[in-house]
Amino acid sequence: MAGILFIISAPSGSGKSTLVNEVRKQLSGIEFSVSWTTRPPRGSEEHGREYNFTTREEFEKMLADGEFLEHAEVFGNYYGTARKSLEQARRDGHDLLLDIDVQGAAQVRAAMPEAVSIFVLPPNPKVLRTRLRNRSRAEGVVNEAEVYRRLNEASKEIENFREYGYILVNDTLDRAVAQLEAIVLAERFYRNDEQIAYRSRRVLEVAAGCLQINSQERLKPVLEAFGILNPAGQRELPFLEDSDEEDSQDDQGDSSKGDSHDNKEDFNDD
Ligand code: ADP
Ligand code: 5GP
Repeated sequence: MAGILFIISAPSGSGKSTLVNEVRKQLSGIEFSVSWTTRPPRGSEEHGREYNFTTREEFEKMLADGEFLEHAEVFGNYYGTARKSLEQARRDGHDLLLDIDVQGAAQVRAAMPEAVSIFVLPPNPKVLRTRLRNRSRAEGVVNEAEVYRRLNEASKEIENFREYGYILVNDTLDRAVAQLEAIVLAERFYRNDEQIAYRSRRVLEVAAGCLQINSQERLKPVLEAFGILNPAGQRELPFLEDSDEEDSQDDQGDSSKGDSHDNKEDFNDD
């Protein structure tokens, strides 16, 4: 089996790592590329697990030695994908998933147009702010300046959504996980003729629904909320004065909703 290269991008805090971790628990044969970065570890992050943490000097040396498939500067730090990750996945015949920003994704698409690209959107700026804050809290510190910086960057990143083949809106976690899983299975089915048995019809439908070309109506409210479709091009962040207390209600961690099954995509043919 030839490994498929999946690229996933999203504004920081959209829930991309959460989605990817969930899908990795459920699907085999897909590797996650551990990027190199010059940013310091956050929370419980470990070297070699979430990232390979390194210095600017080391990163620049690796760059000069041509070790990166792609790289970019994001929020003042370098991030890059080592060519070795791709080579290893190819040797193992595994799919490879790259969690990279929009600049890196453009570099990979240019070099490997066959890559499958997926863009993850948060439902609206308020939910994004809540997720960024909650994550900061879980890491023991709420850095408002950093939260604001990432929020500001989000609209600019979202403007690149048209470059991606598939779009996920990470509103309800279960649903978004099921959609990401469906995309991987559908691409395996189309590219490798891999059987996906009785679930196939529903999986292919779910994946097709996530194709960017089929997502205009679904995306409209999200893009409007981020000021992307606003003809005046306004990019005001309308929620900045909101109190912190609202946060817990804005994004009742759909992941923690009691009856999450209702929201789950059901792949069973009926
Ligand atoms: P990213 O990797 O895109 O920067 P994370 O995966 O770290 O984002 O998620 C940011 C925060 O949002 C985390 O605290 C995570 O638990 C939470 N989160 C992710 N997806 C959802 C969701 N669908 N509903 C509620 N909270 C979510
Ligand atoms: P964070 O610091 O929140 O983990 O990541 C910040 C941004 O860097 C995210 O958009 C993430 O996708 C991106 N990123 C992580 N690894 C890489 C990489 O190897 N290359 C590129 N170009 N971006 C990356």
